[in-house]
Amino acid sequence: NDTEEIIRKDFSDKDIQVASIGPAGENLVRYASIMANKTRAAGKCGTGAVMGSKNLKAIAVRGHDNIEIADPDAFQKSCEEAFEKIRNSPYLEKMKKFGPPSTMITKNDLSSLPFKNFQECYIDLGEKSYDSIDPEKYQKYFLRSKGYFNCPVKCNKVYNVNKFYCESLEANSITNFACKVGVKSPKEVMRLHMKCDDLGMDEDSVAGSMAWAIECFERGIINKDLTGGLQLEWGDFETISLLMDKIAKREGIGKLLAYGSKKASEIIGKGKKYAMHVKGQDLYEHLRTMKGWALGVVISTRGGGHTSGAPMTEFMNLNPKIAQEKWGVPSAGDPTSYEGKADLVFYYEILHAVVNSLGVCLFISDWLGPDLLDLEDFSKLLTSASGITFTKNNLVTIGERIVNVEKAFNTLHAGFTRKDDYPPGRFFNEKIKSGPLKGEALDKKMWDNMLDQYYDLHDWDKTTSLQKKDKLEKLGLIEVSKKLKKNIC
Ligand code: SF4
Repeated sequence: NDTEEIIRKDFSDKDIQVASIGPAGENLVRYASIMANKTRAAGKCGTGAVMGSKNLKAIAVRGHDNIEIADPDAFQKSCEEAFEKIRNSPYLEKMKKFGPPSTMITKNDLSSLPFKNFQECYIDLGEKSYDSIDPEKYQKYFLRSKGYFNCPVKCNKVYNVNKFYCESLEANSITNFACKVGVKSPKEVMRLHMKCDDLGMDEDSVAGSMAWAIECFERGIINKDLTGGLQLEWGDFETISLLMDKIAKREGIGKLLAYGSKKASEIIGKGKKYAMHVKGQDLYEHLRTMKGWALGVVISTRGGGHTSGAPMTEFMNLNPKIAQEKWGVPSAGDPTSYEGKADLVFYYEILHAVVNSLGVCLFISDWLGPDLLDLEDFSKLLTSASGITFTKNNLVTIGERIVNVEKAFNTLHAGFTRKDDYPPGRFFNEKIKSGPLKGEALDKKMWDNMLDQYYDLHDWDKTTSLQKKDKLEKLGLIEVSKKLKKNIC
């Protein structure tokens, strides 16, 4: 926050846009974020630490020119059609009221929350109060809605807690602090969320590392010698807040936790089975119930994360007829079915690759509802804006190229193969203990089948997951194919 203000003041220009790092990036915390506009985070994979390693505190830019539109009339028409869809979609109603945390109660009903480092997944809200997971309980602090230019959704909710202001509260924020480390008060969750932004750290990773440490402490795997005398307990706001400071400064036990749970468990040689990560990135998503969601999270090239291929259809209680018409997958809305889920993950992986490269918000795409913007809509917008004809099929090819370049990067730089496309063992071995989906877990054989189907859709080798030369050449990625050398089939 201070960094952005100082830069704008120095140049006497409030329209300057700033991307900067906080103390976590300066101290090379492995999951330090790059922060923009104070509360928007490029949180994953430690990009903030990359800036920190180069002694780069901030990048400030100021735009002056207009954007030229190739066909203004056609673009205006496409925009109006897009806005019509966004305004009328029933799937965005809760988002308009509560913002991204609107899914919390649905997730609880699906036994899909990661309480105490994913050990428990459901709270019976009729029996126990647990205010911090309920978006309604945040409403008494609601101040106003915020959104980007012209957005009719305005999903960013600003809260005022006695002059302490909180914004950009995500489902991740609540899930991480209310569930993974067990903080029960909405006010405390908001404080931890804003603290994370100020320190410049990825919420999923910092909460994942702390949840791992608390579980290990509870099980006697680590003790006060390692924590510097701290007693680690679920939901202890003061200690959790202190731990976050220590992590950002890489001080005491914070030095260990600043690596993330996977590496921390390797360093001490203990507690590996409680490190809930995929490809080294700490998870926020619970993966036992929704099978397509689980596949989408796990195959994500950045290592965990639901903004690659994870289908939201499983939250929607979708009519099978609508699902069949839209995706050819009648079971799209059935969370526990494995049927057709690889197809859905492939569909959304391509959509997200295109949407992200266009710089458009994911929430107005058909990720959030079958009636929202799809690749057909984006092709019209892009064609009229650029003057270059893009069909839906062109965009599918572009999406495939993006995913294949990312996959090749991982092969070359991280050596990831099929073995890295599996979730932590806890999701297979420990069944859901309570709630409507009690007894549910992932099935290893079904997972293998789903993964095979997903690789087939990409035409990747099923045994290794490696890419095939023919496919890369068909996508026009000849240079990528050459770079992969032996790591290709
Ligand atoms: S552009 Fe997207 S993230 Fe921003 S306010 Fe609108 S819906 Fe929310």
